[in-house]
Amino acid sequence: MTRKYLIETFGCQMNELDSEKIAGGLYHAGMEEAAGAEGADVIVINTCSVRDKAVQKVYARLGELRRLKRERPGLSVCVVGCMAQLEPERILARAPHVDVVAGPQQGARLEELIERASRSGKPVIARRSDDVPEPEEAPHIRRRSSWSAWLTISEGCSRRCAFCVVPLARGPERPRPSARILEEVRALAAAGYVEIVLLGQTVNSYRDREVQVGFARLLREAAAVPGVRRLRFTSPHPGDFTDELLETMVECPVVCNHVHLPVQSGSTRILRAMRRGYTRESYLEIIRKIRAAARPIAVSTDLIVGYPGETEQDFEDTLTLLDEVQYDSAFSFKYSPRPDTAAALLEDDVPEEEKGRRLSLLQERQRRIQTEKNSRWVARVVEVLVEGKARSRMALAGRTPDNRIVNFDGPETPPGSFAEVEITGFGPNSLKGVRVP
Ligand code: SF4
Repeated sequence: MTRKYLIETFGCQMNELDSEKIAGGLYHAGMEEAAGAEGADVIVINTCSVRDKAVQKVYARLGELRRLKRERPGLSVCVVGCMAQLEPERILARAPHVDVVAGPQQGARLEELIERASRSGKPVIARRSDDVPEPEEAPHIRRRSSWSAWLTISEGCSRRCAFCVVPLARGPERPRPSARILEEVRALAAAGYVEIVLLGQTVNSYRDREVQVGFARLLREAAAVPGVRRLRFTSPHPGDFTDELLETMVECPVVCNHVHLPVQSGSTRILRAMRRGYTRESYLEIIRKIRAAARPIAVSTDLIVGYPGETEQDFEDTLTLLDEVQYDSAFSFKYSPRPDTAAALLEDDVPEEEKGRRLSLLQERQRRIQTEKNSRWVARVVEVLVEGKARSRMALAGRTPDNRIVNFDGPETPPGSFAEVEITGFGPNSLKGVRVP
């Protein structure tokens, strides 16, 4: 009987793509996807370490799987990704029913690791190593979408933000050769993918040193590939956001007019403590250029409240930054110390309750900004790339090039096709409308 796998993914788009690579490896080894945990022979939990909450969720899920493993000892439970890289011994101590613990970029080897664990009857740990050359790219990717594809252009991160575990989990930045990336863009376009999202931890620091191709040029060349209708990238770092990149976004209509530019704090004092490599002023200078560009470009961000030492004035600086920038959307979180980071050595001195208060204030301020910005779209007609059925009472959902979610009514339209939609309403997080014939 064909063995079945189930992959559960926590965290970012990079992890979503890693899960597609793991699925590709297991499928290639002759397995099929299971509909749920009960019918699976292999369960893979692809983990995230960026925030403590995500880590606790994984441990809770592993706790749930203990019963399943007891009932079916033949079941293989695999923990992969960032947590697996950073705390394999802790995982096995807390969840001894786990068979394989494998760090990032081990997905292509997962079948082999599962077999090794089952032959030996002992758990197997496989950490990613900076010394071992990694596969150029996973040989098999089983993509969830047939019209939108993620594409890794670099792995790892060579920055050292004080709060972040990513460089520890994923290693230093390793750019992939530009010729290979462009070849893959061409192959994806030929296979019918109309949207491509270039991924890297600091995607815009990309540089192929062999041929001296930087990120802006790579973007321009990818945008010129016939068949690519929308090209996105995430996440750029403000420290590497160049005028050339902005020019490329303005001049290439295929490059979507949205940039996710994580700021983390509006206080230069806190940005220094975070070792972000820019100040409030230099960040605002980038925003000024983006706003002055000949093409309107939406901006979203990530924010942390309650970083060690964050005073009321620092937090106020973050609120005034929101007012100044007028972000189109923002993801905001309470700071939580991550093991082995520089920030973990600092006293986590903003009380939990105060972090919660600041987060609510910030989210309320941002909600007002988004509602007001979205209100300006009423009566306009936008191009929507259809993603599927809407979660709301509307029939369909999709996104504009500047990454706004649009829920709309209209005749059945398959995911991956484009629709013209007239905007008739709005909320803080989405627009609603009707398809124009
Ligand atoms: S740039 Fe900073 S926050 Fe982003 S992945 Fe690198 S270390 Fe982490």
